Amino acid sequence: MQAVILESFGPPERLKVRDVAQPEPREGEILVQVRAAGVCHHDVLHRAGKLPGAKAGVVLGHETAGEVVKLGANVHTHRVGDRVVVYQRRFCGVCRSCLRGRQDMCRAVGLPAVDTEGGYSQFVSVPAPMGIPVPASLDFRAAALACCPIATSVRALRSVAEFQPGDTVLVTGASGGLGVHQLQLVRALGGRSIAVTSDAKKVDFLKSAGADEVVVMKDGAFGGEVWKLTEKRGVDIALENVGPTLPETLRCLTTGGTAVVLGNIGGDAVPVLPGLLIGRRLRVQGSGMAPVEEVRQAIALIAAGLVKPVISAVVGFPEAPKAHRMLEERSVEGRVILEGW
Ligand SMILES: [Zn+2]
Ligand SMILES: [Zn+2]
Repeated sequence: MQAVILESFGPPERLKVRDVAQPEPREGEILVQVRAAGVCHHDVLHRAGKLPGAKAGVVLGHETAGEVVKLGANVHTHRVGDRVVVYQRRFCGVCRSCLRGRQDMCRAVGLPAVDTEGGYSQFVSVPAPMGIPVPASLDFRAAALACCPIATSVRALRSVAEFQPGDTVLVTGASGGLGVHQLQLVRALGGRSIAVTSDAKKVDFLKSAGADEVVVMKDGAFGGEVWKLTEKRGVDIALENVGPTLPETLRCLTTGGTAVVLGNIGGDAVPVLPGLLIGRRLRVQGSGMAPVEEVRQAIALIAAGLVKPVISAVVGFPEAPKAHRMLEERSVEGRVILEGW
């Protein structure tokens, strides 16, 4: 079979199409023919060698959708022909975290494309519980985004921030892969969103993507605008998709508000005022990929038409270097999908 291998860390051209052995499903595994794979900023960081612990010589990709084409021994949960989204990392299923339904916190396992299988490939073989069913009404491109950008947002907004209808939600880095889906989610669940962007040219796009209000950052500041838009009350929830904007984001929260930190662009420390946290009784919580149950919820929201995956380009798998360049140059809104050999 063919796969796109990251031969060494460096520019996009280090991604090469190679013939490799097709995996055989072992006991308890399903062989999935990959039909669509999302290209994520995480992949771009991995390729560039900026991801601690990541290896070269592997297949990238953790946003994978496809069709089950073969079953290993003792698989009773899936059938050949099933359409699935592949959960984005292996989990053991028996540790304390897994038994609590927090497969995202399983410590027994590895990330696809870090030490197991990635989606930039014709086939992947994974443990059957990683194959999450996708209804026939959903195309593979849309399904590929369920796990990473959309389920991550479902988790941050509903499970972590405990969103209620009527809440006002601040979304930083709003035109990115997480932000554009969070705006839709807030609207679908009965909230009001305030999108923050650093690019004045993205205002119309963000309004069309579902933002109720858009604030353009000036010299890194947006708190004053948000304060005005909320009649000096502040927002109930802030989804911090960027990282360096966290101090300004905290200033936008109302008393008792919650900030969920999802972004870490640049990776630098930021100053946080303890007095602000105390005085306003703020909650700041980090969040990341969703457990399996929330991936199911994301698939249901997409299938119901409440969240529409924002896909700006679809290119063939051999054009993975081009897809990486597009993301790196930030010339796209939403996701780039790989489809077809
Ligand atoms: Zn991703
Ligand atoms: Zn586990």
